[in-house]
Amino acid sequence: MRAMLLKKYAKIDAAPLEPSNVANPKPASNELLVRVMACGLCHTDLHIIEGELDPRKLPIVPGHQIAGIVEAAGTGAKRFKKGDRVGITWINSTCGKCRYCKTGRENLCDSAKFTGYTVNGGYAEYATVSEDFTYHLPKGFDFSNAAPLFCAGIVGYRALKLSGLKSGGTLAIYGFGASAHLSVQVARHMGSKVQVFTRSEEHRALALKLGASWAGASEDTPPANSDAAIVFAPVGNLVVTALKNLKKGGRVAIADIYMSPIPRIDYPDLYYEKSITSVTNYTRADAVEFLKLAEKIPIRVEAQSFKLQDANNALQMLKEGKINGSAVLIP
Ligand SMILES: [Zn+2]
Ligand SMILES: [Zn+2]
Repeated sequence: MRAMLLKKYAKIDAAPLEPSNVANPKPASNELLVRVMACGLCHTDLHIIEGELDPRKLPIVPGHQIAGIVEAAGTGAKRFKKGDRVGITWINSTCGKCRYCKTGRENLCDSAKFTGYTVNGGYAEYATVSEDFTYHLPKGFDFSNAAPLFCAGIVGYRALKLSGLKSGGTLAIYGFGASAHLSVQVARHMGSKVQVFTRSEEHRALALKLGASWAGASEDTPPANSDAAIVFAPVGNLVVTALKNLKKGGRVAIADIYMSPIPRIDYPDLYYEKSITSVTNYTRADAVEFLKLAEKIPIRVEAQSFKLQDANNALQMLKEGKINGSAVLIP
């Protein structure tokens, strides 16, 4: 099959993903073989490719927001049938045995496998996944529009929950990429107001179109302080800005797997029981809740499509903030 293969971690402007022909993956007994119809691009892909995360499997086929069609099932896989429209996420499997898995926190599993990082992902024509970590596509979404739901959407939803935002409250969002453009719609659906802080004028325009009540740059003063905040951009300074713009008792959720150093926090900015939490992966329960919500709202996905072989260019554009909404590769 055709795949974009990473053999060596390198900056994306060196075009490290190589168009390659690799053997079709074979599903194990509990696995599905999925024909990839669209695979979303995520900042995590960039962090992996550029070697900012711990080194894992190489060579690797990146990509962990897969929308596709079940092509075949292993002998023990019974939940899906050939032809089903399915999605695959970042969590490829968890152990089910560690203390985190046993206490409903499989997002923290000691030996989780990650699609496109520790096992091959979706920058390819086919991918395999355990049927237990496979989801039906929500109704009303084509493959391109469904793919970004499977990480950007779910992680944004978990961040929203961890931010402690209540219906009617005000949420501040820092950085406006794929995840934020979906989260703003969930927050609006909850009856909350959303402020968006981003450098890009195109991103501000999209935020307002999707229901944000205010959009500005990170140094701008918002009309009011927020009850909760999510930092999506991997920029440590924004954590301090978010704290300063927060009401008493508010929380900042950091929805990043990697971030530049957070500068010194002066205690008055944290006082009044403000708190900070990171967001680490997500559970299957988060995924199921979010996918239901995506269908119900229904969430509108802005997806810009690229050919599989243009993955390097598309990721470069993502890095430069030139994607409005989300980007997907079409094999
Ligand atoms: Zn575990
Ligand atoms: Zn992701």
